[in-house]
Amino acid sequence: MDDLESLAAEIDRASTVVALTGAGISAPSGVPTFRGDDGVWEHFDEGQFTYGRFQRDPAGFWDDRGDLQRELFGEAYEPNAAHVALAELAAEGYLDAVVTQNTDGLHRDATARVRGATADGENDTTDESEGTDHEILELHGNARRVRCVDCGRRQDADPVFERAEDGDLPPRCDCGGTFKPDVVLFGEQLPGAVIQRARTLAGESDVFLAIGSSLVVQPAASLPRQAAADGTLAVINLEETPCDGDAAVVCRADVTEAVPRLRELVR
Ligand SMILES: [Zn+2]
Repeated sequence: MDDLESLAAEIDRASTVVALTGAGISAPSGVPTFRGDDGVWEHFDEGQFTYGRFQRDPAGFWDDRGDLQRELFGEAYEPNAAHVALAELAAEGYLDAVVTQNTDGLHRDATARVRGATADGENDTTDESEGTDHEILELHGNARRVRCVDCGRRQDADPVFERAEDGDLPPRCDCGGTFKPDVVLFGEQLPGAVIQRARTLAGESDVFLAIGSSLVVQPAASLPRQAAADGTLAVINLEETPCDGDAAVVCRADVTEAVPRLRELVR
């Protein structure tokens, strides 16, 4: 029995399974990474994208942010086999929540895709979609949305970026409030409720899967250890992580191969 087989057996037995994902799950979809060689911050000055600058100079922030948004999401990215395998595990009732450090929205896209496939399939016997719902907790927000800083209204980012590009700086909500990318900027605190929810999920999990994350940025860095205290931690990542020593299973593999294989083994 290899590690993934024993992990699959644990998932089958567990009542709560939570996945934490990082940049490594989206890199195979072509989503640029922020750090490292050829990371986005090699081409952009991260100091221009801070919360402080947004507050001081929202027009200049939005002007520059448009260039960054094009670099990040100029192409339409598709969820890959790892995103889809997690969405399938969730739809099959094996995965309760995905906590992600990514802001690309690909877990939501994968879920919509899997739901669409299920809705078209003949073996869809559920009366309500509630049974296949799982939670997607985006720790750092979602870059494909914007949020009004005054009334909190969220909407699709694309039309707002188009307005900014046409010189409507900074773009404003109907209520007069300034729109902000719906992400946690440098110098901005993560919402306390989001951190608390992530800790609760980590604490409740019987199996916690850390996938494609280097596990060095908080709060993602502390969640696996918390989960490992009274549950099974598995790390699936190409490179070593500081949490490997706490993990019952360490799988040093391409996530687009390991996660679909895990999903096959669970059934
Ligand atoms: Zn508003």
